[in-house]
Amino acid sequence: MDRNPSSTKSTPEARRANLVEIAVMAAIRNTLTYLVPDSFTVQPGQRVQVPLSTRRATGIVLRAGSTLPPGIEARPIVRVLDTEPVLTPEMLELGLWVADYYVAPIGEVFRAMLPLRSATRRARLVRLSELGRRTLGTQSDAAPDVAPGFSPAHAALKGGATMRATMPESAAIQGGVTALLAYLAKRGSASLQALRQKFPEAFLEALKEKWLVVDEVERERTQRQVYAVRVAGPVPEKPLRLSPVAKRILEALGAEGMAEDHRELLHTARADLAALRRLSASGLITLEPSRAERRSALPEFSPSGNSWAEADSSLVLTSAQKAAVEDLSKQLESGQFQTVLLHGVTGSGKTEIYLRLIARCLELGRTALMLVPEIALTPSAQAQFLARFGRNVALLHSALSENERHEEWWRIRRGEAKVVLGTRSAIFAPLSNLGVVIIDEEHDTSYKQEETPRYNGRDVAVVRARLARALAVLGSATPSLESYWNAREGKYRLATLPERVEGRKLADVEIIDMRQEFRETHTQVPVSRRLHQEIETQLAKCQQTMILLNRRGYSWFLLCRSCGQTERCVNCSISLTYHRREHRLICHYCGYSAPVPARCPNCDSQHLYYVGEGTEKVERKFAELFPSARVARLDRDVARRQGQFQHLLDEFRRGKIDILVGTQMIAKGHDFPGVTLVGVVSADIGLGMPDFRSAERTFQLLTQAAGRAGRGEIPGRVLVQTFYPDHYAIRLAAEQNYEAFFDKEMRFRRMMHYPPVTALANVIAQGSKLEQAAQVAKHVGSFLIPLEKQIEGLKILGPTPAPLAKLEGRFRIQFLLKCASRARLSSILQRLADYTDQQGIPQRSLMIDMDPANIM
Ligand code: ADP
Ligand code: ZN
Ligand code: ZN
Repeated sequence: MDRNPSSTKSTPEARRANLVEIAVMAAIRNTLTYLVPDSFTVQPGQRVQVPLSTRRATGIVLRAGSTLPPGIEARPIVRVLDTEPVLTPEMLELGLWVADYYVAPIGEVFRAMLPLRSATRRARLVRLSELGRRTLGTQSDAAPDVAPGFSPAHAALKGGATMRATMPESAAIQGGVTALLAYLAKRGSASLQALRQKFPEAFLEALKEKWLVVDEVERERTQRQVYAVRVAGPVPEKPLRLSPVAKRILEALGAEGMAEDHRELLHTARADLAALRRLSASGLITLEPSRAERRSALPEFSPSGNSWAEADSSLVLTSAQKAAVEDLSKQLESGQFQTVLLHGVTGSGKTEIYLRLIARCLELGRTALMLVPEIALTPSAQAQFLARFGRNVALLHSALSENERHEEWWRIRRGEAKVVLGTRSAIFAPLSNLGVVIIDEEHDTSYKQEETPRYNGRDVAVVRARLARALAVLGSATPSLESYWNAREGKYRLATLPERVEGRKLADVEIIDMRQEFRETHTQVPVSRRLHQEIETQLAKCQQTMILLNRRGYSWFLLCRSCGQTERCVNCSISLTYHRREHRLICHYCGYSAPVPARCPNCDSQHLYYVGEGTEKVERKFAELFPSARVARLDRDVARRQGQFQHLLDEFRRGKIDILVGTQMIAKGHDFPGVTLVGVVSADIGLGMPDFRSAERTFQLLTQAAGRAGRGEIPGRVLVQTFYPDHYAIRLAAEQNYEAFFDKEMRFRRMMHYPPVTALANVIAQGSKLEQAAQVAKHVGSFLIPLEKQIEGLKILGPTPAPLAKLEGRFRIQFLLKCASRARLSSILQRLADYTDQQGIPQRSLMIDMDPANIM
């Protein structure tokens, strides 16, 4: 069995001793074995460059002493990229676990773990093909039309011949195909980008004729040096023949005659580095490494005092907080792995507990990691951390530039940053001597990565804590059923904060029955009379209101009243949402958009009707209803615009907005003490989703939304509009009764065999044609279905079309796998992946999702 596609036959000696196992950063599921040349020494955790078929790739050394079957010789490592291992043995183990458990290509896992792009970058180099070389030969010798050895049947010959016919000798000018070939013959190779720029048409033609070969290579990424530029001495009165660009540079250097950062200079002078170098060579300017500090992601800050205790806030803990901090500290000090679920109602002061626990952890000489959902990482959350821990904090989130991420990563790796605050992928932050991992809002779906590797940051956190013998803390007001179940089963320790701080009460929740509203008013409006009246009261009292509607856009979809057709996405089996600002129909899954038709494309009827309301429409509606109020909207469409997300949150916090309309984005985690009313429009939107977690999600969303009200001194109220006032998710969220919801929902999960009582995996066969997807599904089925009889506790549903039967242009056929044991299920998936590999099914044709966050 040849596990190494790049190996060849050879002598059986000299095997094993110098063989290493490497995770190559490519879509290959297994590790590969390479030879370490005598002149190199490598250690596990170091990055190396290795040959991979015809290109080079980066890999990470996992272990020495690998073996290969007889007759197979490993190819040698090309280069060692790090002097020291970048990953500790602990992190290697974590990566292996992720690859294994989530059935992800091992190289992709390590790619996700490392800010690797800083060491190498991928480049495409172009060289002449054999055919190209021959063609060039034919060109330059005034030789016969058919070169010797040319197969007349070959397509390229025709190309060569045509070119000769249509290209006279004078065609060997810039831009011509001949020139391109000659250029490459002389230089050996050139970057694809440069060639396309230099020979835009000839390049495409030569490529079509197969005269060129494009190689993907990994190139070392040079750290961009920043130069300080200075005018060297007085500029001569009448400089001799200065080029226009040189003049611009000198002009831009201005009266001061210097620039601290050459990149800014180049921008102003519309010049490039080469021009600077020329000018420097001619002695007119000097270039030297700039002292200007590279911009760090962190603002300047130093902790007040030396001890962490001193930097602590002056808040007096509530007795529940105190008990929780004491209990958690005790767990931490024990130096044993342990997971604690911190179930604290909204506004119970969980953040303060985290901060104190981290401080204690640092006192013990260990490091701390805290994950928050993407949108909860607001400047105010960051500021709290910086205020406590100063320069010890490293931030890792998706808004960082590549450079900033790189810098933060290395600060952590070097041990300069001991506290990491970040979003999902920060779970791989290279902290040593980890003492505590905290997952705030542990139920949040943003911890689940929905692309390869499909891991759940929360679950990886628990594994990481185990490997580090650290404490894992999962915090939430609405724990996932999985975590609460684990607590009930005794796998996790449970800590509870049943009350808000300062004796503040949870908000009162009132359910508004929209069926009743319709019966009485005979109109279908997004705002009930009750909500309307309450908002008026709010405005009169100058208090703030939040309106939650978990659907963005203007109208849900466009319906033809004559034929009943809705406008659908061409790539996905989903209706398009009408967005008024763009005046287009947009797909919320793939982003496809279409103009709004004047007539039904199906039956040509003019009776097109906009159904349902999204945040865009509700915002407008409120602005109309309350003309004196300041109304704003916050959803993904707004947040996409640069800076808008933070700006609106700030404005709202400062009381500059009376009514904030938004999606779940506004419901999560925020602490706005001024909000005393929360209105939920269409609380039931999520209930219709064909996903077994729809009730759980609805409960979480409503409880969290209610949790935004009354966080200040004045008690809060919540109005929930719904057509299903009796649904348990809505009723129990209104009571803010988590326990009751858990018990009720568990009954359903038990009956239907869904997590947490069973392990679940979602396997989707996909293809751009339905037949392709069906073909893959047939293979998958032929492997899986027989297993159902052989493996105890395994249940397979499907194949059936996935709820999203088509997504981003691909048809999707679904298998749902349920199994009593997670470990067993994961190993079944491994075998499935091995099998489909053997069958030559490309990885993109099969999506394997272990512990899926959604099964759409
Ligand atoms: P949670 O995350 O549990 O919903 P937060 O941690 O956001 O709650 O805390 C809610 C608010 O209560 C914050 O403004 C916080 O500063 C404040 N707070 C926390 N602990 C105390 C305390 N012991 N006394 C007074 N206020 C507190
Ligand atoms: Zn129609
Ligand atoms: Zn789409």
